[in-house]
Amino acid sequence: MRLRTISIHAGVDKDAAYNSVITPIYQTSTFRFEDIGKTKGYDYSRTANPTRTALEENICALEGGVLARATATGMSAIATTLHFFKAGSHIICTNDCYGGTERLLRTYSEIFNFKVTYVNMQNLDEVKNALRPNTKALWIETPSNPLLNIVDIRALSEIAHNHTALSIVDNTFLSPVNQRPFELGADIIVHSTTKYLNGHSDVVGGAIVVNSPKLAERLHFLVNTLGQGESPFDSWLVLRGIKTLIPRIKAHEENALAVAKFLKSHPAIRKVNYPGLECHPQHSLALRQQYGFGGMVSFEVNDGIEEVNSILRSVKIFSVAESLGGIESLICHPVTMTHASMNAELREQAGINERVIRLSVGIEDPNDLIEDLDKAFQVYAPVFAGSSIENNK
Ligand SMILES: *Cc1c(COP(=O)(O)O)cnc(C)c1O
Repeated sequence: MRLRTISIHAGVDKDAAYNSVITPIYQTSTFRFEDIGKTKGYDYSRTANPTRTALEENICALEGGVLARATATGMSAIATTLHFFKAGSHIICTNDCYGGTERLLRTYSEIFNFKVTYVNMQNLDEVKNALRPNTKALWIETPSNPLLNIVDIRALSEIAHNHTALSIVDNTFLSPVNQRPFELGADIIVHSTTKYLNGHSDVVGGAIVVNSPKLAERLHFLVNTLGQGESPFDSWLVLRGIKTLIPRIKAHEENALAVAKFLKSHPAIRKVNYPGLECHPQHSLALRQQYGFGGMVSFEVNDGIEEVNSILRSVKIFSVAESLGGIESLICHPVTMTHASMNAELREQAGINERVIRLSVGIEDPNDLIEDLDKAFQVYAPVFAGSSIENNK
């Protein structure tokens, strides 16, 4: 099956009793035994639940892995993945990772004595120099949040494998529609399904996908042992969301490109980060490694926090909110919102300054989104009135 068919059919068919076309919500904690030691494959919902299995089979097929597990949140997927490693392990992490990932790694460094080195993964020498005898994993996130930096998954996976370490990719920003890390050598993929996979901003969830039977066995053990599985209802919502993943991603992407081009031509904006623009420093890597450019755009205003605040207060269609990947457009200020929990020194080092604004571009009419931003820019700097909007209609 091809991706579009997979997204709609994989795992879905679970009702042998009534042949429902849509997967039922098996809202039950436990399952009746048919005889001593004999079940229909399910005994207790922490271990497995048919609605969750449907979602897991679907995500597994989309990523082309061996086994997937759906978890309660993206952070629970990341936390569970860290349990693959023994206390004292060394992990090399990209220095502009998701803020929650950095906070969790910091916490696990305290509790489990993990050693973590943050590097700029665009520089492969920096990664190689950070390797230690006990390096067990490379934690990769591409495109990064919020700067949309792109790193080379294939090259990084090779470095990991030459050191018998695992290559782990947080694939939340692009989804398997636009990036399939197993094709590039990754060993483990994590997702916050809260974002594009569910796509409707009405559930939190996560997923872990592995591509070897050995990792699969451990994954099943960990999710059950730690009790991290997604609830049946939330699993059902995410599975429902995935059925429109491909057309949604296409619509997000079209709008994001239009918004990025508008921002690029606007005098109030000093820098635009979108991998689909030719001026993006890793545009050619994005073309090689990704199947599309996604719906996230970030930019830097000319002035500082006053201008940022004015824009955030003035937008009408964009909602000021954290999170991303839903059908509606969101705007956020990473330094005070999504990345506030991140170590300030690391944040600076990664180039996430107070002028940066991040957009999760939704699937509304792109002209409305552009007009909304243009009007908001004018509130702070009336001199720019109507400067570039005509070019983008
Ligand atoms: C949101 C997000 C997470 C965390 O997911 P939750 O569902 O909020 O727990 C992890 N990684 C990335 C890239 C994210 O955007």
